[in-house]
Amino acid sequence: MDDIKKFKYTDILGWSVSRYDRFSNCKRQYFYDYYAKFDKEVPLEKIQFLKTLTSKALETGNIVHDIIRDMLRRYQISTKPINKDKFLKYSFDITEKYCSSKTFFEHYYNGEIILSSEIYTKVKSILENFLNSSRFKWIEKNAISKSSEWIIEPGGFGEIRINDYKTFCKVDFLLPIGDKIYIMDWKTGKADEKKHSKQLTGYSLWANYHFSKKAGDIIPMVVYLYPQYIEKSIKIDDYLIGEFANTVVEETKDMYGYLLNVEKNIPKDKKEFFLTSNTFFCKYCNYREICSGSKL
Ligand code: SF4
Repeated sequence: MDDIKKFKYTDILGWSVSRYDRFSNCKRQYFYDYYAKFDKEVPLEKIQFLKTLTSKALETGNIVHDIIRDMLRRYQISTKPINKDKFLKYSFDITEKYCSSKTFFEHYYNGEIILSSEIYTKVKSILENFLNSSRFKWIEKNAISKSSEWIIEPGGFGEIRINDYKTFCKVDFLLPIGDKIYIMDWKTGKADEKKHSKQLTGYSLWANYHFSKKAGDIIPMVVYLYPQYIEKSIKIDDYLIGEFANTVVEETKDMYGYLLNVEKNIPKDKKEFFLTSNTFFCKYCNYREICSGSKL
């Protein structure tokens, strides 16, 4: 595969599915996530600490992503099948390491004792779903010989430009087979068709931008790994890509609306970032402790 194009750093904000999601859910949460250093009331260290809180669900996804990434990278070094016992031992060690170095939301706010063994039980079950899937066998049979061409969680944030707007669409795993490019995105949580279709269109645009691939030659799929292995793909066409580009432009402009200076990405005052009235978001919000609007 040709080199991924690089961009000069600028302060200007870049659209991503997760950023706009956060923006839509609660403006104040979005402020804490992206503009903590502009807060005049709460010490930066406090906001940064709360931002790093993880949750059992988030950490499970994080661990699984990193283990699959490492396994695929190992296939780029050797085409020998992996040794399942060693692989599970590695997965266990990674789970222990990650769990012992993080503060869990459920512990911080609810005093729950987090057992890494409990997290590992789920991690193991997710990884077994992947290893037992026909897709994994397909990768072993059809793709490993060309593993040097795989792109596995590329560095950076998956930057592209859409109508000159900075956009981030970072892929988990991209592999070329024949004249097609397959893009896979691992999910360990619930299916969210609307959000995930948006992500897949973004990944396709990323591949189209960096490798000049036609929409019809890109096959993006969301891979749900739990409770059972299910793939969902969408058919990418020029209409979908055009619609996606319009959405990115509109949503970026929405976020620009909360800035005093767009070029330097300087936000308006914190009070302009309204608190959500939806207590569902507060229930799972890392910033409950410092938020005057939390009803919990
Ligand atoms: S506690 Fe609720 S209102 Fe406050 S930042 Fe979090 S989600 Fe927003």
